[in-house]
Amino acid sequence: MILIFFILGCIMASFGNVVISRGIKDESIIYPRSYCDNCGKTLKWFNLIPLISYILQFGKCNYCKEKISIKYSIFELINGIIYMINCQKIDNLLVALIISLEMTLLMVMAIIDIKTLNIYNIQIFILAILANFYSFITEKLNFYKMIFTVILYFTLKIIENKKTIKKLGFGDIYVLLALFIQFNINDFAEFFIILGIISGIIASLLLISKKDIKAKIPFIPIITLSFMSFYFIEKF
Ligand SMILES: [Zn+2]
Repeated sequence: MILIFFILGCIMASFGNVVISRGIKDESIIYPRSYCDNCGKTLKWFNLIPLISYILQFGKCNYCKEKISIKYSIFELINGIIYMINCQKIDNLLVALIISLEMTLLMVMAIIDIKTLNIYNIQIFILAILANFYSFITEKLNFYKMIFTVILYFTLKIIENKKTIKKLGFGDIYVLLALFIQFNINDFAEFFIILGIISGIIASLLLISKKDIKAKIPFIPIITLSFMSFYFIEKF
């Protein structure tokens, strides 16, 4: 089962890579089919096997021989390992799967946030759906959470009638609200303490490196780190 989780993690990260690169370029996820960034050639299924294609092709495009960045494979490997850890540590496999998917989704959102400061509404909504599933399985689901999700969805729709909520600058709050569905009050308090600690560490690092603090700092990566720390500390 651990191996299945690892393979699934690699596949989900591979899909995540597509979502990231299309998200940054603001392209559709479904069309066009995966292509080489250099020569534009549409890739066949055997060019798209996570990790394996990269190794078999010696890290180069099969057609134009341009080097493929290793970052895609690294993300696949890390995500596979995360799925393995979750599978190992969480008794209920369905819960392990949902938390794993949430972690992938959050990492994808974090990377898009770092590169573009965009947060896609649809991704927040998927996160909220996963959080509802989690609550349902762990018997934390109640009527209010479902109502809350519906309100969250329509607020997103009404406030920003676009695909992303980049201009508002408080898109991060929606991500926290989506996670709120998953937690009970104690969990959320604990999560906030971790969030505070990680924010503090990152703020100190930025101060030390003398980066321009006034520049907008992507917050989704901090939420993602906190979420992962919460589950890795809490459950293990
Ligand atoms: Zn190529």
